[in-house]
Amino acid sequence: MTQRFSFSLHATDGKARTGTIHTPRGEIRTPAFMPVGTAATVKAMMPESVAATGADILLGNTYHLMLRPTAERIDRLGGLHKFMNWDKPILTDSGGFQVMSLSDLRKLTEEGVTFKSHIDGSRHHLTPERSMEIQKLLGSDIVMCFDECPALPADRKRIEESMALSMRWAQRSRDAFGDRPGHALFGIQQGGLEEDLRGQSAEALRAIEFDGYAVGGLAVGEGQEAMFDVLDFAPDQLPKDKPRYLMGVGKPDDIVGAVKRGIDMMDCVLPSRSGRTGQVFTRHGVVNIKNARHADDPRPLDEDCTCPACRNYSRAYLHHVFRAQEMISGMLLTWHNLHYFQDIMQGMRDAIAAGTFADWEAAFHAGRAQGDIAPL
Ligand SMILES: [Zn+2]
Repeated sequence: MTQRFSFSLHATDGKARTGTIHTPRGEIRTPAFMPVGTAATVKAMMPESVAATGADILLGNTYHLMLRPTAERIDRLGGLHKFMNWDKPILTDSGGFQVMSLSDLRKLTEEGVTFKSHIDGSRHHLTPERSMEIQKLLGSDIVMCFDECPALPADRKRIEESMALSMRWAQRSRDAFGDRPGHALFGIQQGGLEEDLRGQSAEALRAIEFDGYAVGGLAVGEGQEAMFDVLDFAPDQLPKDKPRYLMGVGKPDDIVGAVKRGIDMMDCVLPSRSGRTGQVFTRHGVVNIKNARHADDPRPLDEDCTCPACRNYSRAYLHHVFRAQEMISGMLLTWHNLHYFQDIMQGMRDAIAAGTFADWEAAFHAGRAQGDIAPL
């Protein structure tokens, strides 16, 4: 197995790409969907079950882990992989985004951000240097630059200042990361919905040089149409020979639209979070398992799905355990959702390799437009 981090592109179809990211902890097939393991667990899933859905990599959240149980404790216990029993690659975010969305009483300066924990009100300071240190203590395989991004809509001046600050922090992140063979550091493009600002940001990142590049600052309230408008140009501004990662996306049709526009990696809490609230994603659209129509339905969620929830249980059972608030409800529905998301990724990888992405995409949309099977 390789001891270096590298990316090889196997095929393209239109702007869609398929390839492999090589890391010392294993290969990541792209386009890749990363389940989110916020607090050193993908909620309701055993790590071996996450791997069984087809995930090659998962995402850990710096903000959550630094507060509890702390990066220093995880380091003492052998690093995040050992701590959570996941031996494949892990990507960690920088903590910046969640400081902005979750913490209280933030103070942003050129140096970094000071904030109060949403858990116990304790005071913390996060800078590019500290974020690099935490992600190193965690043992992350793919480290993200520390950045700052405003919620959209925001005025151009605010977006421009924020982007410029993030580019200065990108350089500081690069300097603090140092030379760590086998580990990767990704830069994050900012610039809101503005093509010229996105271009300036991409140029600044390319000058610093990273192992991969994220499109940041999307999926923050702008809506799918505006996001796709940005993705029509943003990936093209980034190097062709490095992985491109769209952060925090998304719904199945967001993912397909992003891959179509040249994105290689994505992450989202949606399949796991929805699994716990009874919302199920299927080839035929969204199913709400709490609806009374499922109470007597002996059929599986999706007769063609090979996940345990669909192979071994009826809609009636899944409806019952959800209504009874049994823990197995979140376990089975999360498993199905993650399995379905990975199915989409495999379908796209195969279609891109075969040069049939447009046909695959048409079938994907037609299946979803069909809607759920009729009630009995
Ligand atoms: Zn299933």
